[in-house]
Amino acid sequence: MQEYYDIIIIGAGPAGLSAGLHASNGTTRRAILLIDKIAPWEHTIQCAEAVGRRGFEEAIAVRPNWVRQGIGKASFHAPDGVEVIYTDKNGGYIIDRAAMQRDIADDLARRGVTSRFGCAVTRVSGMKNFRRIVGFADGSAVCGRVVIDAAGPIAGLGREDSFTRKPPDLEPAYFALAEGLSLPADTVHIYMSREFAPGGYAWAFPRGKSANIGIVIGSAFKGKVNIRRLLDAFLQHHFREASIIKYYAGTIPCAAGRAKMALPGFLKAGDAASTVNPISRSGITEALVCGELAGSHAVRMLEASGEREMQKIAVAYEAAWRKKRGRRHEKLSRVKPAFADVPDEDYNAATAALSGLGPDKLTMFRIFKAALGRFPRLLWGLRHMV
Ligand SMILES: Cc1cc2nc3c(=O)[nH]c(=O)nc-3n(C[C@H](O)[C@H](O)[C@H](O)COP(=O)(O)OP(=O)(O)OC[C@H]3O[C@@H](n4cnc5c(N)ncnc54)[C@H](O)[C@@H]3O)c2cc1C
Repeated sequence: MQEYYDIIIIGAGPAGLSAGLHASNGTTRRAILLIDKIAPWEHTIQCAEAVGRRGFEEAIAVRPNWVRQGIGKASFHAPDGVEVIYTDKNGGYIIDRAAMQRDIADDLARRGVTSRFGCAVTRVSGMKNFRRIVGFADGSAVCGRVVIDAAGPIAGLGREDSFTRKPPDLEPAYFALAEGLSLPADTVHIYMSREFAPGGYAWAFPRGKSANIGIVIGSAFKGKVNIRRLLDAFLQHHFREASIIKYYAGTIPCAAGRAKMALPGFLKAGDAASTVNPISRSGITEALVCGELAGSHAVRMLEASGEREMQKIAVAYEAAWRKKRGRRHEKLSRVKPAFADVPDEDYNAATAALSGLGPDKLTMFRIFKAALGRFPRLLWGLRHMV
């Protein structure tokens, strides 16, 4: 006999924690288990931690200690070095994910959610008698009526249901935490460059007294370039004075498609369901939003009378995600190759055109218009949007 839980959540990242908040919401007490192979807040989280303020605040009740600093400006650097600074009326935050994730896990514990950190899940079984077995690396197992896989893009859970797939557009990212720089605290820097970040972009984000500097490259370049060397070359070129604290590697699942997100008694959420914005590569708010939907649909599955009803709820979960963000991400996924094909000269020309405008004239509309005027190839790619 295995220990039984109503809902088992694998992964204490933004998706799993948000699912936990929404599954444990309400009056009925449910037996919920939250599992992670580590206690994520005890490690540096592999993320640049930038979020748009509005979306983030809509997705979760933000606490002051989760915010490292407010961001008001984005500075775009063309390959030839010309810079355009855009001031956003909503702005954004550089957050402290460790603080956020620890606080939410503590909240869940107060609501009676059981946690197991330091337990790697190796298997989620098929459904039998409305139960699935969740197996651990040490050979032990628990069982549950509904399982939420929020374990990120590469955990590969769900083999027995053929409910696992290698994300088709898994992009490598590499970043360094660095000191000794004087980046303005309210500005994020984005660099377009085939030389340093082919098929992707490079970033430099302030992070309190330090900075998070990294690159993400297109999946087509995986194995063809040495990403660590590219990052070092980028640092040498733009931030020679940086003193590196440590390097980190990560992967970003960037393909948004109509892949299955749920089966009866089994839902995938966040990066495990490829919910990242394929162009900006942001996934924190998306994981919170998707986790909320996963948590509330898991509760509905728990109350379902049979497998058919569970299947309907699985379909409703996918539809709810597509309505919130998925459909838009699918469109962005289709135009993404057009962005990747834009040659450096086009970025240079558009940035030069925009750099002449004063900051008060630099609206998103103007940027879009100038970009379209200067990027005929991009315009052609954007035909998918209409
Ligand atoms: C370098 C980098 C920079 C990024 N920068 C940004 C950014 O600035 N802004 C932004 O919005 N997004 C950013 N992202 C994307 C963002 O980090 C993810 O989209 C987001 O973390 C997804 O949340 P999640 O909860 O789905 O997954 P995760 O945050 O990956 O959480 C998954 C959890 O599952 C656990 N886990 C994994 N496998 C198992 C297992 N077998 N058993 C048990 N537990 C397991 C992991 O330990 C982890 O805690 C970045 C990504 C990378 C790689």
